[in-house]
Amino acid sequence: MSRLWSPIVEKLVPYRAGEQPTGSDVIKLNTNENPYGPSPMALRAICAAADDRLRLYPDPTATGLRRAIGSKLNLTSEQIFVGNGSDEILAHAFNAFFRGKGPVAFADVTYSFYKTYCALYEVPHHEIALDAAFRCDPDVYRGAFGGIVIANPNAPTGLKMDLGQIEQILVQNADRVVLVDEAYVDFGADSAVALIPEYENLIVVQTFSKSRSLAGLRVGFALAQPDLIEALVRVKDSFNSYPCDRLALAGAEAAWEDENWFDETRRRIVADRGRTLEQMQTLGFKVLPSATNFLFTSHETIAAERLASDLRSKGILVRHFGQDRIRNWLRISIGTSKQCDALLEAMGDCLENAS
Ligand code: PMP
Repeated sequence: MSRLWSPIVEKLVPYRAGEQPTGSDVIKLNTNENPYGPSPMALRAICAAADDRLRLYPDPTATGLRRAIGSKLNLTSEQIFVGNGSDEILAHAFNAFFRGKGPVAFADVTYSFYKTYCALYEVPHHEIALDAAFRCDPDVYRGAFGGIVIANPNAPTGLKMDLGQIEQILVQNADRVVLVDEAYVDFGADSAVALIPEYENLIVVQTFSKSRSLAGLRVGFALAQPDLIEALVRVKDSFNSYPCDRLALAGAEAAWEDENWFDETRRRIVADRGRTLEQMQTLGFKVLPSATNFLFTSHETIAAERLASDLRSKGILVRHFGQDRIRNWLRISIGTSKQCDALLEAMGDCLENAS
């Protein structure tokens, strides 16, 4: 601690992002990036935007991108907010909807950044215990909460809730904001976007980082009725007027339009997910059914931390979390078909060496 810090900084527990190695010879399955790269249309749009206009500030309200998103999702621009990755939008949402209220409720096993935002904005939280199979009972999401956050599909479990369950939570919590973080929704769950016209307390957050393979560009968006979007805009305009630069706005808009690339890369990831899951089960792994671009897995004969380290020595990075309840589990992103094969072979070797 430094005597020059503000008191809040001392208490922060920053999120630990997955490792980003500098070399290119590793198989990187630790941060749920998309192995197929962005749409070629997006890359061309980014290059075309890299010109003299960079001396000008970008559009602070991301008008073109919001219009493009709205026209596909049947929403107006006033129902859409664009930010610097969904992490930034989540931070703004904690500030805009939960700060100064009662405890915000989220699952005990979920995206760990939620707790970090709670510490940053001094929001108390209440952990909802998932059952032994990491499933969530929507009945439990009722009480004197300041708000509710649900990752659907959940991370790191990969499990999804159906829209009926989300709707039940919305009905039970009509007087507080229910934020549904849909970072992985395009890989196999139904989006709650369809519920926006009916529920003024719903906000849905999505990202270009996963299914559109633009984690490096940093663009996310939120969808809700105009009243909630206005709160996000107020927070954003009290923080940074220009969260997305010109290249990011151009690239995201082109990626959004390139449905062929989106569908084809998604299809490949979902196919490899199914095949990898089955082959891991043959190797004796317990694997949760995944609606995402990663698998959550555990094995009886080798501790997860040891397996992660053995895989690492074979040049494959996967994610292990220190949290007690999931200490014996690993989260493994779906790579290319070749990377999935390399993973399966390496895991087979690790198991042999461990027994
Ligand atoms: N939500 C969840 C559940 C995530 O796993 C991630 C990725 N770490 C994010 C949000 C943030 O993604 P981004 O900031 O890249 O949009």
